[in-house]
Amino acid sequence: MQEASPKPADRPPCPQCGSTRIHIHGVTHSGTPNFRCCDCRRRFVADPKKGPVPAAKKELVRQLLAERVALRAIARIAKVSRSWLQAFVNDIYQNETPWEPGPLKKN
Ligand SMILES: [Zn+2]
Repeated sequence: MQEASPKPADRPPCPQCGSTRIHIHGVTHSGTPNFRCCDCRRRFVADPKKGPVPAAKKELVRQLLAERVALRAIARIAKVSRSWLQAFVNDIYQNETPWEPGPLKKN
């Protein structure tokens, strides 16, 4: 079955450079058309349902991590995905560990 492709008038302008030379670049896993800008090559969807995690939510996650709340509990409280949370924790660990732990001591 062939899906109806959006007419050129339905194509949104590029969110990065504002160009209207937009190419249809397949569909997402949920069937929403993907677009690609012919000028800057940016790929995007017309009306994204999700965006980046806001800074306020990241701060909440940091506070919960400081309280040593379990990761699954943090994901439920802050309504973030577990995969995003694990990547966030890994990033904090990699960039903000104040010292190098070094090899374990043998007793
Ligand atoms: Zn563009």
